[in-house]
Amino acid sequence: MELYSTKRSVPNVNFEEAVFKGLPSDNGLYMPTEIPQLPQEFFDKIDTLSFQEVAFTVANALVGDEIPADDLKVLIDDAVNFDAPVVEIKNQYNVLELFHGPSLAFKDFGARFMSRIMSYFLKKEKKEINILVATSGDTGSAVGQGFHNVEGINVTILYPSGKVSVNQEKQLTTLGGNITALEIDGVFDDCQALVKQAFLDEELNAKMNLSSANSINIARLVPQSFYYFWAYAQLKKAGKPVVFCVPSGNFGNLCGGLIAYKMGLPVEKFIAATNVNNIVPEYIKTGDFSPRPSIATISNAMDVGNPSNFPRMIALFGEEYESVIEEVQGCFYDDQQTEVAVKEVYEETGYIMCPHTGVAYLGLKQYFEATGSEANGVFLSTAHSAKFLDVVEPIIGKELEIPVELQSIINKEKVSIKMDKDFEGFKQYLLEK
Ligand SMILES: *Cc1c(COP(=O)(O)O)cnc(C)c1O
Repeated sequence: MELYSTKRSVPNVNFEEAVFKGLPSDNGLYMPTEIPQLPQEFFDKIDTLSFQEVAFTVANALVGDEIPADDLKVLIDDAVNFDAPVVEIKNQYNVLELFHGPSLAFKDFGARFMSRIMSYFLKKEKKEINILVATSGDTGSAVGQGFHNVEGINVTILYPSGKVSVNQEKQLTTLGGNITALEIDGVFDDCQALVKQAFLDEELNAKMNLSSANSINIARLVPQSFYYFWAYAQLKKAGKPVVFCVPSGNFGNLCGGLIAYKMGLPVEKFIAATNVNNIVPEYIKTGDFSPRPSIATISNAMDVGNPSNFPRMIALFGEEYESVIEEVQGCFYDDQQTEVAVKEVYEETGYIMCPHTGVAYLGLKQYFEATGSEANGVFLSTAHSAKFLDVVEPIIGKELEIPVELQSIINKEKVSIKMDKDFEGFKQYLLEK
């Protein structure tokens, strides 16, 4: 895989370099110079394959030039070790459940794949790395879970003391092993500042191999295309076109779908659904991309005012607005509309959605109402409803069942290292580690 920077002012790199660099030094984003087409015979037999086999075929087409097939198979089987089932809730409405991984959110796909890719390349070079990640909650838990017990990688998670939910804190602080949680006396921005300063510190970088698990790393994007193919495979026997509605914040998930489309996956339309942070739906409507400060909503994982994957999204269409809007529609909903949707779907079908999933459901509904399309609709469920208990329980008026993954964490003991927000203390800690 050869990758260029969307700002086009640095040389191209291969996949391995892009994974460890994370971001090109011109502050663009790495994108494949070419997206391979999968052969028709793959689509002809896709419904006879397993999720892992589908994922392997896709990954092999993208990065097979740098990882031999046998190694890649092992890596995929380990990374993609939970299902992404399509569940029909009513005629034309199918939910693609992406929350069956360890942190109960779709980011598990990205984190698990990226950690194993890094470990694979590190083993080859007999190296070790130290990953530093600042979190306000969710990213830390997916990264912690995704990198837990992965060889050659130590992870230090910095989170603001008292500023994450009790469950989130448990997810960050109960893993142990190669995952260390630093509880910083400060806010998220202080955690972020410590990590940034560490990457700039010459002494630290001379003594340890520091890296990030940045959400825009290309290794997090690749696996987010797998489950679009898998959804198609599960629906193929119906013989109808497929529409995907993707609840979006930074638009990495949607980009995964667009890559699948460019690889030949037949898709009638993509719908980009957001909460009131509607920068991309605005762009689709007007052609203007105007980032602005984010607004807090109940679908808070999508509270993004400057969607980081936007340059990738348009790069996939040759940066032509007209081509983007041919394939991607936009829509957005406020909290009240989202609450009504969660309640409506529960009362009508018994299915319980998290607020992000509720936004996606609304996008699909609006599409069907506006177009009369007969397609099979797929809306992506990015998190388990139990991760958002405080929002969902009052809406449906009932206590939720807590999945075992969360329950077992709630009973574990928190282990964290308390630390001031001053850099010298943090640096000393890292050097002594
Ligand atoms: C991260 C996240 C999103 C947004 O995904 P993007 O790839 O940033 O668009 C949506 N829902 C949940 C639950 C998330 O954690």
